[in-house]
Amino acid sequence: MSASPLRDFVVAVTQDFAQDAPEAQRLASVRGHLATLVARDDWLPDELAQPHPEFYRQYLLHADPLERFSVVSFVWGPGQRTPVHDHCVWGLIGMLRGEEIAQPFGHDADGRLVAQGPAQRLLPGQIEAVSPTLGDIHQVSNAFDDRSSISIHVYGANIGAVHRWVYAADGSRKPFVSGYSNTSVPNLWDRSKETA
Ligand code: FE
Repeated sequence: MSASPLRDFVVAVTQDFAQDAPEAQRLASVRGHLATLVARDDWLPDELAQPHPEFYRQYLLHADPLERFSVVSFVWGPGQRTPVHDHCVWGLIGMLRGEEIAQPFGHDADGRLVAQGPAQRLLPGQIEAVSPTLGDIHQVSNAFDDRSSISIHVYGANIGAVHRWVYAADGSRKPFVSGYSNTSVPNLWDRSKETA
């Protein structure tokens, strides 16, 4: 078994991008790689798993040099939640540790933003997808008030460069670009400890 499931994941997704593919095909393939990655919880460095007492954290794990995809560890403190927001690119969310709840939103006939369908509870190992074609607006929260949760996100761009939107209850929206909480990224490339 590889010493670095994250590096294996990055390599597999990079190889996927050697070929153009429609979104559904791309998502199906990356979903398979992500399922393998979140099937075990022994690889995320502790410094990239630290909650903040006030704000949820988004630690960059890898950005494709051509910005075709990015990988983020999304760390929830107890009771934390996002505003209602969109992504404007495809995204896959794989639950690593703990649980989170995602409520999809959509516009009604009057242009108001309303909850659409039931909230989904994501358990470790499970994967959820968002995109402008699948449904892109949601609000996500830690399912727990007394402990942190962590999901691994993959986006079809450098999400730290994507201009997207936060929505108010009246349907009005404000632009935002999400930042990264870390100042360094994991060292995936030192293989000196591997046995030949
Ligand atoms: Fe989201």
